[in-house]
Amino acid sequence: MALFGKKDKPKKTCPICGGELHFFTSLLLADNNEICADCAQKMRDQFNVEYYWERKYWRDGDVTVRKKSHDLLQDLTLEDVMEIMQQKEEAKQETLETVDGAAGAYASVFTFTQPEQIFPKPLQVGIPRAKALKGAWVCKGTAIRGSFEQGDDVLVLAQDGTTRPAKIAVLIPCDIIDFWTELQARTHKKTIAEGFPAWIVLDPAIGEVREGETIVK
Ligand SMILES: [Zn+2]
Repeated sequence: MALFGKKDKPKKTCPICGGELHFFTSLLLADNNEICADCAQKMRDQFNVEYYWERKYWRDGDVTVRKKSHDLLQDLTLEDVMEIMQQKEEAKQETLETVDGAAGAYASVFTFTQPEQIFPKPLQVGIPRAKALKGAWVCKGTAIRGSFEQGDDVLVLAQDGTTRPAKIAVLIPCDIIDFWTELQARTHKKTIAEGFPAWIVLDPAIGEVREGETIVK
């Protein structure tokens, strides 16, 4: 007889990947289903945590302000998550077919949407980094094959199959913290594994980066 029931208790598993759910890291969805931390992080390119200040006015005229957060991922149901995962998978297969068709198989492929040019201020990131990153393009996307690391020499693959050499100046995994906070804090991890989203900042020497291009190595 298992007095404390521990051995007999079935372990809860993630309905997406089948991995074990851990109490402190799993994420509760709007319909009370839970998904594991990895599956949640894979969606952080689209669903992050919003922070805002809540003001509360008291009867005596006092105002208190406190920082609050809202996790957009927790607005979804398991069905929503599965549908989004499915769409991501289809988009991934389509991109990999195009990339492999144009250029032969690259070990690592990173897709992104809406690249943005940044001009960090010296007060935000210090003078040397402000200079180094002036006019750099930030590509927010996912490593759909292989892995990437800050400092990697990569290629930007255009839709017509041509490539331009580039360097990953900064790599920040998408998490619940926003890009600028991470860029300033510099405490972020500098690698991403397959399936995980990140912001990749390319060395400005590459020039403009366009929607529809992919980063490969
Ligand atoms: Zn999972």
